Amino acid sequence: MKYFLLALLVVTLNVSAEKSREGVEVQKSRLLLLPASTVERSASQQYGQLMRAASDKGLLNRDPEQVNRLRRIARELVPHAARFNKDAEKWRWEVNLISSKSVNAFCMPGGKIAFFTGILDTLQLTDDEVATIMGHEIGHALLEHGRARMSEQVLKNVGISVAAAVFNLGQISAELLNQAANLAVSLPYARLHETDADLVGMELAARAGHDPRAAAEVWRKMSRLAQAVAKGGGQPPQFLSTHPSHESRIRDIEANLPRVLPLYTKAKP
Ligand SMILES: [Zn+2]
Repeated sequence: MKYFLLALLVVTLNVSAEKSREGVEVQKSRLLLLPASTVERSASQQYGQLMRAASDKGLLNRDPEQVNRLRRIARELVPHAARFNKDAEKWRWEVNLISSKSVNAFCMPGGKIAFFTGILDTLQLTDDEVATIMGHEIGHALLEHGRARMSEQVLKNVGISVAAAVFNLGQISAELLNQAANLAVSLPYARLHETDADLVGMELAARAGHDPRAAAEVWRKMSRLAQAVAKGGGQPPQFLSTHPSHESRIRDIEANLPRVLPLYTKAKP
């Protein structure tokens, strides 16, 4: 009986250790002055404007094969998103492709995703690589990095004392919110946000049956491209200005592979 209980205990301990080892560990944002609903509404307006502008110029979703590919990969990743943010179940996800040489991609708060043809063509991305980039962008949205940055922008503009005293968000103008939403996709992310988005991206990709090792390869490709462009005296890829690369990025990605590779092994087709 004693041995049986001991064995049971060991088994139970193993199971819980196994559980806690599975998947990545990330931090949710703290400075969230603006309600999520306000942020998502504003992001959705900004996204709509951007897509209408692209459509007016004939630059929206011109390559059906690539659009279908992006939407298929999004459909594979999205069912796993609620693990990081329960609200994601209610998001109205959108995925669009803009014809532009710009090496860029983003996911605005509320699940509004855009890829530029430049990032697909220049980096010759495989499906696994698209999945880790899309997962990374979705990671920023799930961890509410955009909401945190919009809150910061609004605080900077209305003044901390006013915001703290009044805290009446109804007084924040639509214009100010739109400015903040714009800045939220054009400012560089903080280093910790980048690392956490990488980890979420790897886990979403792995759970969807995409090889999470592709995340490291994306950053290798990105840094080779940056070096090549710099040699020619050109501008660095836009993606790098909003997602600053740091030396330890690939190291962090590789250090976290053991947490997500088992998920990939289980999910892979
Ligand atoms: Zn990022």
